[in-house]
Amino acid sequence: MRGSVLKTKSFPHSDNHAVGSGDVSMRAIRAVVAGRVQGVGFREATRRRARELGVMGWVRNGEDGSVAVHAEAPAAAIDALLAFLRDGPRGAAVAELAVQDVRVEGHEQFAIRGVSAGVFVVQQHAASTRHFDLRLEVDGTMRSWAVPKGPSLDPAVKRLAVQVPDHELAYNSFEGATDGGAVVVWDRGSYEQGGRVSWPQALQRGHAVFVLHGQKLRGGFALQRTGAGTGEKAQWLLVKRRDEHARPGSDVVAEQPASVLSGRTLEQLLEQEHPLGHRQ
Ligand code: MN
Repeated sequence: MRGSVLKTKSFPHSDNHAVGSGDVSMRAIRAVVAGRVQGVGFREATRRRARELGVMGWVRNGEDGSVAVHAEAPAAAIDALLAFLRDGPRGAAVAELAVQDVRVEGHEQFAIRGVSAGVFVVQQHAASTRHFDLRLEVDGTMRSWAVPKGPSLDPAVKRLAVQVPDHELAYNSFEGATDGGAVVVWDRGSYEQGGRVSWPQALQRGHAVFVLHGQKLRGGFALQRTGAGTGEKAQWLLVKRRDEHARPGSDVVAEQPASVLSGRTLEQLLEQEHPLGHRQ
C-alpha cells in the first residue's frame, strides 16, 4: 500500500502506527477462548461487557469452535474484560483462555466480526460507457460506486470508483436490456463490515473496509475516498486487501466475464438484445 496516490493520506492497515501509543496505560490484547463457547451467546455477551467497560475491538467465532477477541482499552478495563472471558456468559464452559499482548490499532467500536452486514452486487453495465457498478447494502439501500475497469483481486491494483446514487435492493437481480444498453449481474453475495470504525460513519469519513463473500470476489477490500468531495461523483479507490483470497497478477474481470445469474457475457446480451447495433 505504497501507491503514490495514497502516500499523503492515512490509510489504516493492521500494521499501521499505534493510535494512542503515547498513553502508557493503554493495553491491547488478542484472546482465544476455548471450550463450550459457541452457540451460547458468547459474542453478544462479550460485546455488551466490552461496551460497559469502554473497551474497543472485536469478537469473532473461530473455525475451530473457539472465540477470538481483540480488545484495547486502559489496562484496568482489559483486566475486567479478561475476568469476564474466563467465565463467559451463562451456558458457556471456558476450558482455556490464551492471551497475547498486541499493538493498539485504534479501534473506535466493539464489533462482532464474521457476520453478514447485508448483500452486495456487482453489475456490469453498458450505457454511455461500459463500467461495473459495485453496490453494498447499508441501512436498507444499496450504496453504489461506478468502477470503470471493474474490481481486481490483485492488491497492487487500485481501481477508480466514482460514487453514484443509491440503488434500491429490488434492482440487485436485474439483468437484461436497458435503453440502448444492457446490464448483467457479474457477481453477488453477502459482505461483512470491517475496519476500526463503525458503518456508515466509515463511509462518511471516506475509508471503509469490508469482506466480500461472492462467487468471484472474496476476501477483504477497502474503499478509500481520494478527494475532498463527498456525495455523488466523489472519487474513491477500490483496493483488494492482502489476504488468502488475493490473486496478485490476476485480472478477474477478463478471466471470468460471465453473469453469475445466466452465464451470459455482457457482449452476448448486447448482441441478443440490440442485434442491429446502435449499442454503446
Ligand atoms: Mn451503471
